[in-house]
Amino acid sequence: MESADAPRRPADLPERFDHVIGGETVPSVSGETVEVLEPVANKPYAVAAAGQAADIDRAVAAARAAFTEGPWPEMTARGRASVLYRIAEGIEAREQRLAELESFDTGLPITQARGQARRAAENFRFFADVIVALHEDAYRVPGSQINYVVRRPVGVAGLITPWNTPFMLESWKLAPALAAGCPVVLKPAEYTPASASLWAGIMAEAGLPEGVFNLVNGFGKQAGQALVDHPDVPLISFTGESATGKEIMRRAASHLKGLSMELGGKSPAIVFADADLPSALDSTLFGVFSLNGERCTAGSRILVERPVYEEFCSRYAERARAIVVGPPHEAATEVGALVHPEHYERVLGYVETGKAEATLLAGGGRPEHLPEGNYLAPTVFADVPPQARIFREEIFGPVVAITPFDTEAEAIELANAVDYGLAAYVWTTDLQRGHRVGASIDAGMVWLNSHNIRDLRTPFGGVKASGLGKEGGERSIDFYTNEHIIHVALGQVHTPRFGTGQSS
Ligand code: NAD
Repeated sequence: MESADAPRRPADLPERFDHVIGGETVPSVSGETVEVLEPVANKPYAVAAAGQAADIDRAVAAARAAFTEGPWPEMTARGRASVLYRIAEGIEAREQRLAELESFDTGLPITQARGQARRAAENFRFFADVIVALHEDAYRVPGSQINYVVRRPVGVAGLITPWNTPFMLESWKLAPALAAGCPVVLKPAEYTPASASLWAGIMAEAGLPEGVFNLVNGFGKQAGQALVDHPDVPLISFTGESATGKEIMRRAASHLKGLSMELGGKSPAIVFADADLPSALDSTLFGVFSLNGERCTAGSRILVERPVYEEFCSRYAERARAIVVGPPHEAATEVGALVHPEHYERVLGYVETGKAEATLLAGGGRPEHLPEGNYLAPTVFADVPPQARIFREEIFGPVVAITPFDTEAEAIELANAVDYGLAAYVWTTDLQRGHRVGASIDAGMVWLNSHNIRDLRTPFGGVKASGLGKEGGERSIDFYTNEHIIHVALGQVHTPRFGTGQSS
């Protein structure tokens, strides 16, 4: 009989995750596989095909054929949009299955995994609408020229994604790439291949032509790198760590590839003394402890104005201690198991570092009631100095650093004192200050008096070490299309006549 704290296995759990190339599910050319662990018992439950250059070559060839011969790049926007709508329906029809697979494979609490299908479906509907409404610019020079823009899909798009909310993040790349007319080769994260195995069925049911969607599993250094190095892949959209992003940029430079880089973060949440404290507490707790803290936009540094610092810290720590850590499949669980033992060890290493750098207010290790699995009690450090590693480095787990400040200028300085610049959150009831501070923070996205709520039309992406380029709305389509300008003369053009002695 299954013990009470054994992982809850979804029914019909696959034992293999293979590649999807040209509409077929295939193993690696080499036959090699990689073991896939679940994070509760840390036991292998399946294998994934370990893709290498030969598999990437096949996937790119299928995608390239779909680009040069297939109907997809030439279809009307409305035609592509109707397929994208059907993909959204296919995702929603698998909502329960997706949530179970995602929660089992990544350790995300099931209640939070359930939201992922809705968000992924929304990404497809949104980009279907964007592509239908998209216009191409025209420029008129009265009487002499009309110049107009033609957008064409760039070619095969290489999509490389991480293990946190994997399916949803894959959808955020797949939807605009497909909307723009680009065939894709997706390389999901090696830790979490399970939910990506749903795509093939969803795409086929929606009527996406074969070869437009391809997926190659495997390690970053093998499958990922081969995709980056492939000459027939002009675009790479990457989400992952900043160090990996830099490596990809170096390798892509020799091909001058188009790059979209969504990288790491160490985002500040600034709480001024005049803030609505109960709301700021709710939001800053949710901001770092939801999704197990494995969230790129986590507000993992909280800067608090001195007059409310003591009160904020004690109320924050009390709430953090009350967060329910437990098996991912249980409805009451608020923080589940971290994705993989290697990542768990890394996060624990930061917790030990933090104990020497700051004051531990809550957590600090494994919860007593969970002797196995990658569980960490929500961990709160206060009095964290800005030179501390736990202030500067991305931990990507349920760990938060709280630091006091005295003036608005100091808050901005502290907010900007790290290499990252993805998101920021500002809590104040002073309207002018809110706008002022919001505009002064080096971050791609700032929320005033709110946690991270997305509007898909707005630019998404970071600055500094958090990324390059912006996605969202038409910006995503800009990335996946080339703009060609066609210049048309409306009358006789005066051309200097070389070779006639009348060239001026
Ligand atoms: P990672 O960089 O280790 O891996 C991401 C993907 O890149 C994986 O598929 C991996 O196999 C692949 N990869 C690794 N090395 C590669 C190489 N040399 N060439 C090509 N591909 C390679 O990141 P991770 O640990 O999976 O994800 C966590 C990171 O992602 C965190 O830093 C987090 O902040 C970031 N993230 C950013 C955003 C954002 O939108 N800015 C969103 C989610 C996650």
